[in-house]
Amino acid sequence: MPEGAMKAWLESSHFSGNNAEYIEELYESYLENAHSVSDEWRKVFDELEKIDGVEVETNHSVVRNEFRQLAKEGVKHVTVGAESDAKQVRVLQLINAYRFRGHQNANLDPLGIWKRERVRDLELTHHDLSKSEFDKEFNVGSLAVGVESMKLGDIYKTLEKTYCGSIGAEYMHITSTTEKRWLQQRLESVQSQANFSKAEKTEILKDLIAADGLEKYLGAKFPGAKRFSLEGGDSLVPMLKQLITRAGEHGTKEVVLGMAHRGRLNVLVNVMGKNPSKLFDEFAGKVDQIGSGDVKYHQGYSSDFVTPGGNVHLALAFNPSHLEIVNPVVIGSVRARLDRRDCDKGDLVLPITIHGDSAIAGQGVVQETFNMSQARAYKVGGTIRVVVNNQVGFTTSKPEDTRSTEYCTDIAKMVQAPILHVNGDDPEAVVLATQVALDYRNTFKRDVVIDLVCYRRHGHNEADEPNATQPLMYQKIKTHPTPRQMYADQLDAERTLSSAESKELVEYYRKLLDEGQCTVEQWRPMTEHSVDWTPFIGHDWDDEYDHKIDLTKLKSLATDISSYPEEHKLQSRVKKIYDDRKKMAAGEKLLDWGMAENLAYASIVDSGERVRITGQDAGRGTFFHRHSVLHNQDDASTYLPLQNLSKDQGPFEVYDSVLSEVAVLAFEYGYTTAEPSGLTIWEAQFGDFANGAQVVFDQFISSGEQKWGRLCGLTILLPHGYEGQGPEHSSARLERFLQLCADHNMQVCVPSTPAQVFNMLRRQVVRPMRRPLIVMSPKSLLRHPLAVSSLEELADGTYHNVIGEIDELKTKDVTRVVMCSGKVYYELLEQRRKNDQKDVAIVRIEQLYPFPEAELKDVFAQYPNAKDFVWCQEEPQNQGAWYCSQHHFRSTIPAGSTLTYAGRTASAAPACGYMSLHVKEQQALVNDALTINKA
Ligand code: AMP
Repeated sequence: MPEGAMKAWLESSHFSGNNAEYIEELYESYLENAHSVSDEWRKVFDELEKIDGVEVETNHSVVRNEFRQLAKEGVKHVTVGAESDAKQVRVLQLINAYRFRGHQNANLDPLGIWKRERVRDLELTHHDLSKSEFDKEFNVGSLAVGVESMKLGDIYKTLEKTYCGSIGAEYMHITSTTEKRWLQQRLESVQSQANFSKAEKTEILKDLIAADGLEKYLGAKFPGAKRFSLEGGDSLVPMLKQLITRAGEHGTKEVVLGMAHRGRLNVLVNVMGKNPSKLFDEFAGKVDQIGSGDVKYHQGYSSDFVTPGGNVHLALAFNPSHLEIVNPVVIGSVRARLDRRDCDKGDLVLPITIHGDSAIAGQGVVQETFNMSQARAYKVGGTIRVVVNNQVGFTTSKPEDTRSTEYCTDIAKMVQAPILHVNGDDPEAVVLATQVALDYRNTFKRDVVIDLVCYRRHGHNEADEPNATQPLMYQKIKTHPTPRQMYADQLDAERTLSSAESKELVEYYRKLLDEGQCTVEQWRPMTEHSVDWTPFIGHDWDDEYDHKIDLTKLKSLATDISSYPEEHKLQSRVKKIYDDRKKMAAGEKLLDWGMAENLAYASIVDSGERVRITGQDAGRGTFFHRHSVLHNQDDASTYLPLQNLSKDQGPFEVYDSVLSEVAVLAFEYGYTTAEPSGLTIWEAQFGDFANGAQVVFDQFISSGEQKWGRLCGLTILLPHGYEGQGPEHSSARLERFLQLCADHNMQVCVPSTPAQVFNMLRRQVVRPMRRPLIVMSPKSLLRHPLAVSSLEELADGTYHNVIGEIDELKTKDVTRVVMCSGKVYYELLEQRRKNDQKDVAIVRIEQLYPFPEAELKDVFAQYPNAKDFVWCQEEPQNQGAWYCSQHHFRSTIPAGSTLTYAGRTASAAPACGYMSLHVKEQQALVNDALTINKA
């Protein structure tokens, strides 16, 4: 129907623009079944369908838009009769209201203490309907009940059951009609009611018995010990076991879980199959751990779990006490496993993240992971997000204190995830919601949320007194029966399982605990996990490794990475960079930073390994040096020379990240703790942005191996250097990383030449040690005329932790040695040459941690007359390496020598804001280093 005709028709129709939504609903019904609407409406819609060559769905959206427009304009019309049509529309309106808002009347709170607003849309009178019309037959529109029409009373009952029972489904915020219809089909066709067999019900009861039994056992055996009991949220156990079993049935091979402390011991024992005797030993303080270890409710675990589809490998991620931060770690780990299995859809590995109700609403990293969920670099085919919603955040129980939204899960709407709220005291509803959620994730490859509304039987931990802050809630909880008791009673009442039989199951579980036996029937020893970490265990940073690379090979790779199809038109500055690279490949020019770095990636992928780089400008490089992605100026297509080396090469992936630091870094940590091979890099746009990810450095990167024995070979590039650009972006806060260094936990490097960056990146892959590598990477050095290297230097393959003097000085004449790292080296060198000083040697420390004491001592030994040692840095005295590395400098310089500081004075800000002042300060520190107190 032409636009004008439609408007004319609408203006003469029975309904005002404000009723557009109902007409839309009618139209949707008509599309599904033309006879589901009255003759009059069908005639109108029949005309719409006759637009030649346009699909019905397109017509539909045109019509919808028209209706919406009219609704907005609030076009006024006169209603002229057709009472039956009007009633029919009201009924459709009622159905719609339940779909939108039924969850607000759903029976979700096991304690029955939620105070909820009255929802008028769910009242018959609001739609001009009444119980007296219950016997009238109406068309049901798209209500997925398998019949075209029903009595109003039955429609009403169906809606109440479907949307206001133990499952409150929120999904009408989803714009995809397909997804909405899918969810409606799943829920409405069974009226949100589970129909489980006796065996399935018994299984659910056994899981509840396990959940309850373990907590009671621990409570009795270790009274007062912190265990962060699951009690109240017991249905988590049947939920997780259902997720794993069903995922396995559908072909999933691995499941990675992340959760905070609440209920974790229960998940470890009753889902993952950790032997309870091991847990009891931990309670008793018996440990067999190397490193610092961690408390039991932060421990991860790995096992296999048998399902009808075969064994599924389970990995519960180790977790610090920062609640939500583990989520991107889990998702990164899943991405690594998917990449390894060459599965880009997400079918083979499933992430499950378990959240707290206050934390999911309160912590920003949750938003970041939702935002990442469909982005190219991070997608994993959807995450199952479970909220253990015990309605108390630590001691805060008033929702108005913990969030600004009705539900704690509202954040999930930003990615249009469906949210299934479910009453934790109805375990069958929990399992049904779980099945729907998993099938949704597997069908649409998107995130989905299960909000398990429950309670916390005890305080925050077992030593806490919850009545102090939640008196009414805890009075209620005191007399509230456990989920196990309620379900056992239900099964008894419906004659599925007698109370005597339930009791036997309780006793059996208790016996397993007494005997210290695994409580999970489906537990299997690990065979399914697909990566062997043993070659990477037990190595140190100074291990020998085969580092050389064949020069001919290197030259040919250099040519390959400088080539691109002729028709791929480059932007002029980029073309100049590539023209230069061609000259470098031909040996006509020394290599600059960008070329050496790309060549490192080329040599790694050439050996069949993966390179993965993410960061805010990773493809181009913040400072325009990398250009691993070439953008065609004619059609915006992209070409990556590093992806086009040979058919046997490893994957090269570079992604401009979402604008986040904490979640993306945690993701890459997760990736590298699940994948020991290849090179994985996160690059901060500017080094100081790393402070937005501080928790990842503190809680995972620097301490994960010590706490949990988990190796991680992540490389982190942090642009750092004092270029007069002000307090922001000058400093990557080197001091913070050095302060975190101990036990050889990670490496902190400051490479100063292209050959060094090449060999540093290769070393991270070729050497079998897997430890994080923090790099202060340069800015102006990327184009510094002295910061160049030959192909031969690259082929040598050695990363020099220390670089001694490069000018030919008479070693006996040297009385002062200046030590430094990074860009200031070139300023010192140029100034010394200018000063024509022959008695000062300049030594670069290219690895500040682990400190290369022996190598440095070897360099110092060349200067028998040097007793005057200076550490020169660009950073203020309270920052940079001075305070954190001073003890290393002192223990390395010869006995009887002096150590002097040359650098900026201590300062609260990392750098000054004025270029002129910067230049003055910089010159002063260089002069100081070369001449201060000089005899
Ligand atoms: P997962 O696939 O994470 O369950 O790991 C299976 C097994 O591989 C673990 O039980 C560890 O023995 C080993 N493993 C996994 N990740 C690491 C890691 N980052 N460092 C050392 N060993 C690991």
